[in-house]
Amino acid sequence: MKHHGPSRFVGTAHLVWWLLGFPPALVLAAPAVAQSARQDEVGGVEIEYVAHAAFLLRSPDGSEVLIDPFQSRVWLGYDFPDGVNPDAVLITHPHYDHDAGRFRGAEFPWTGVPLLDGPGRLEVGDIVVLGLEGKHADPYGKEFGQRNTLMVLEIAGIRIAHLGDNGPLTLRNLEELGRIDVLMLPADGVDHILSKEETSDILRSVEPRVIIPMHYRLPDLEDSPDSPSDLGEIDPWLADRGNVRRLSSHRTVLRVTDLPEEPAIFVFDHAPYVRSAGMPGR
Ligand SMILES: [Zn+2]
Repeated sequence: MKHHGPSRFVGTAHLVWWLLGFPPALVLAAPAVAQSARQDEVGGVEIEYVAHAAFLLRSPDGSEVLIDPFQSRVWLGYDFPDGVNPDAVLITHPHYDHDAGRFRGAEFPWTGVPLLDGPGRLEVGDIVVLGLEGKHADPYGKEFGQRNTLMVLEIAGIRIAHLGDNGPLTLRNLEELGRIDVLMLPADGVDHILSKEETSDILRSVEPRVIIPMHYRLPDLEDSPDSPSDLGEIDPWLADRGNVRRLSSHRTVLRVTDLPEEPAIFVFDHAPYVRSAGMPGR
């Protein structure tokens, strides 16, 4: 689709040269092609699912933001990978499965980069982040006043919201969120954070084009069928929902021009570099 503009431009340019009596200048094709390639290159946001509620988002200029890194082997039976070096970190709330254990005093690996862990605004290269005041789903998080920040990221013309462990959205939340193209929300088969009905209400009110469930049990990374406690798998939540796309990958690129017409649920694989604590070599 993107090639239509530049090729029309080349055609018109050739016609102009022909009318002026000059030979068709082939060099004109070069900048047009280069421009087209650049547009394809810069047009999208790369979404990478690490695991649980942790994502890496990459912008056209190569800026990278990490959202909600989990603490290794606490509640979850797997390790946060080494070598993740984002340009900024976002933390929706101070639970260990979202803040890498920072609130509980664990060593925090990303002290040298900007951090947003509450309401506010952050610019990282060509990424704009807006933190909006939310509230953790009941009954959890009373030890920190149930604060939870809704993170809205504008990247390549796409508005992405990560809800953390928020409860049902209020009218004020919805107003402040505004248009959301891509919604990352907690969902699982046992209503751990939100019930099925609550997630359906959120999807009806926000009307995102791409829905990314997160914060569910990843059975291949867990050693015991009972862990983590009270967290369900995603399949029961997906069972009666339409337009489910299993990506068979932990990464995808979205462009504002090719968001799905019908709301689609994207189910990522967790990143292959996330290893279960029980795996040999760890
Ligand atoms: Zn959580």
